[in-house]
Amino acid sequence: MIIGRVLENEKKVKFEEEITCNNCGKKVPGGLQTGASYYQTQEFQKELENFKRNYLCGICRDKKRRD
Ligand SMILES: [Zn+2]
Repeated sequence: MIIGRVLENEKKVKFEEEITCNNCGKKVPGGLQTGASYYQTQEFQKELENFKRNYLCGICRDKKRRD
């Protein structure tokens, strides 16, 4: 899964982050990627926090879409 910003032709940084679904609490081992220049910036930290706070697993996302 790619989050944040990846510039054209830029190298991506892969990292592992444990993400929890905010609806059912299911843990998802997240192999995430972002652009090398974006990784470790403050914006990236903020975006990652935001991403984790709002994360829904596939099942809950489908359910939400249907409701
Ligand atoms: Zn879920």
